[in-house]
Amino acid sequence: MTWRSCSPKSGSFIRVRGVEVPHGFGTKDFALEALRRLLPGRKPQELGQVHGNKVLILRKGAPLPQGLPPSDGAVTDRGDVILIVRTADCLPVLLWDPETGAVGIAHAGWRGILLGVLREAIKAMREAFLCDPERIRVAIGPAIKRCCYRVGEEVSSAFLAKFGPQVIERRKGGTFLDLALSAKIELESMGVERIEEIDLCTFCHGDLFHSFRRSGTERRQISFIAGGRDVHPG
Ligand SMILES: [Zn+2]
Repeated sequence: MTWRSCSPKSGSFIRVRGVEVPHGFGTKDFALEALRRLLPGRKPQELGQVHGNKVLILRKGAPLPQGLPPSDGAVTDRGDVILIVRTADCLPVLLWDPETGAVGIAHAGWRGILLGVLREAIKAMREAFLCDPERIRVAIGPAIKRCCYRVGEEVSSAFLAKFGPQVIERRKGGTFLDLALSAKIELESMGVERIEEIDLCTFCHGDLFHSFRRSGTERRQISFIAGGRDVHPG
C-alpha cells in the first residue's frame, strides 16, 4: 500500500495516502468550523497541550472529558470523536492501526519529544487497544524543519545525548535541530516501521502555515484524525 502525502493544493488540509480513516493536516485557512461540517455527528476533542507526555485514552462508552485535559496526546477506538491538535512549529503526529481501527494524535515540540510523548502514545495504543507497533502507521505533519529550527546549547546537547549527532546540524548561523528525525528515531525504537513525514517547513511556507518562530503569532493550524468508519470526506 502506498503511504505518501498528497499535494497541499488539493484542499485546505493535507491527507496522507493509504490512511483510510478521516484525517488531515490543516493549512492555516482550515478552521474548526469547516472540520465540524466535514464530519458531522462527531465531537472534536482538543487537548490542553502543556508540553508534557501525558496521553489521554478515550474508550467506547466512557464519558468524554470536560474542558481541555492536560495532555499532549490522545488515543481512541471510538468513532464519535475527532482527535485534534493545534500547532504552529511543533510536530503534529497522527497514528492509525488498520487492524483494530484505533487512532491516535500527538502534539510534540522539543520538550514533548525529550519527555517521550510519542513513546507514551505508542504504549497507550498497545496497552489500551492491543495495537502492534509494527502495524501502526504514523504521519508527521508540517512543522519547523532543520532548515530553520535554530536551538540553543542546552536543547542541542539534550538531543545529541538522546538521539545522536544526526539530529543536530551546526552551520553558519547556529545550531539547528531536526525534530522530525528525532521523532522517527524514537518511534523506530518502539518497533514502528511505517512512518511518513510531510516535507513542508512551517517557517519557510508562510503562504500555507502559521509559524510562531517566523511571526510570533498566536494562531495555529489544526490537525485531526478520527477512528471508526472507513470513509473519508472529499
Ligand atoms: Zn524552513
